[in-house]
Amino acid sequence: MRDLKDLVRKNVWALKPYSCARDEFKGEASVYLDANENPRNNPYNRYPDPLQWEVKKRLEQVKGVKAENILLGNGSDEPIDLMYRAFCEPRIDNVVAICPTYGMYQVCADVNDVEYRSVNLKEGYELDVDGLLAATDKNTKVVWLCSPNNPTGNSLKTADIERVLKEFDGIVVLDEAYSDFASAPSFKTRLSEFPNIVILQTFSKAWASAAVRLGMAFASTDIISVLNKIKYPYNVNKLTQEYALDILKDPKKIEDWVEQTIQLRGKLEKDLRKLSFVVDVFKSDANFVLAKMTNAQAVYEYLVGKGIIVRNRNRVTLCSECIRITVGTAEENAELMGALNEFAF
Ligand SMILES: *Cc1c(COP(=O)(O)O)cnc(C)c1O
Repeated sequence: MRDLKDLVRKNVWALKPYSCARDEFKGEASVYLDANENPRNNPYNRYPDPLQWEVKKRLEQVKGVKAENILLGNGSDEPIDLMYRAFCEPRIDNVVAICPTYGMYQVCADVNDVEYRSVNLKEGYELDVDGLLAATDKNTKVVWLCSPNNPTGNSLKTADIERVLKEFDGIVVLDEAYSDFASAPSFKTRLSEFPNIVILQTFSKAWASAAVRLGMAFASTDIISVLNKIKYPYNVNKLTQEYALDILKDPKKIEDWVEQTIQLRGKLEKDLRKLSFVVDVFKSDANFVLAKMTNAQAVYEYLVGKGIIVRNRNRVTLCSECIRITVGTAEENAELMGALNEFAF
């Protein structure tokens, strides 16, 4: 890995973080007259902990990642955007990503005026490590990997991810939004092995909390410090922090939900394969399946007419005639299959 100093934008490296009232005084006091808050309406009158230590301490137990290796954000969207703001000089630097993949990496590249290079996945939606590395140059700051990948649903091979981590000398973001549903282990236990890794996880999928907007980045303390310097001081509000502390009390419940989803995914895959107009159902390690149809557009429109909304991926590279279907409850999946069984084309 190149020196972090050479990867981070010069202005960011030189930056002194904004020091808020809650940063300056840590500890307990009885009278707080430092932040121009309203003394009434406790506890919501007070600015929240800018570094969310209580939540991170609980995550340390649940995820096995040290609190100082965690950044929390307003969904994964925030750390995705922070990667550009921290590392990529607009119109000079570039990033390299796989294709197809999650759309936000490109949206944030475009917003930040950073060149976005994409390298198609190979047969079986596998990572083209040589192609990916060949697309990088001295101005490539970040490589984006997503495993299990969205919208294809498959996990990238661990050995391929390891090769990128070892052979690319910039930052490698590994988005593990769906890793709870996969059999391959998360890279979260291997932070010390790969100083250039940034792992993204989220409360939006397995933790069933998309509405609260809470995302996590796991990385070296050096990388986390850079990101902490540029995030909004109070980027995770108190309601979200309280909610997170609450749901993190019961990881067993989440495991049960994940187990149910995996079982229902297996049934959905099997049921879809029986349909005459389904050409292929790709093996999924996520909470959705990608299915290739003879006429995805017609199937999509037919389902919309029945009030059932799936994701039409027909126009996405390497996904022509494909529809992405989220695994719902047993009842929702049965309703979908009932409609599809009546589809005449
Ligand atoms: C859903 C999803 C996320 C989650 O984004 P949030 O902003 O945390 O809701 C992240 N990455 C991928 C690939 C996703 O599909």
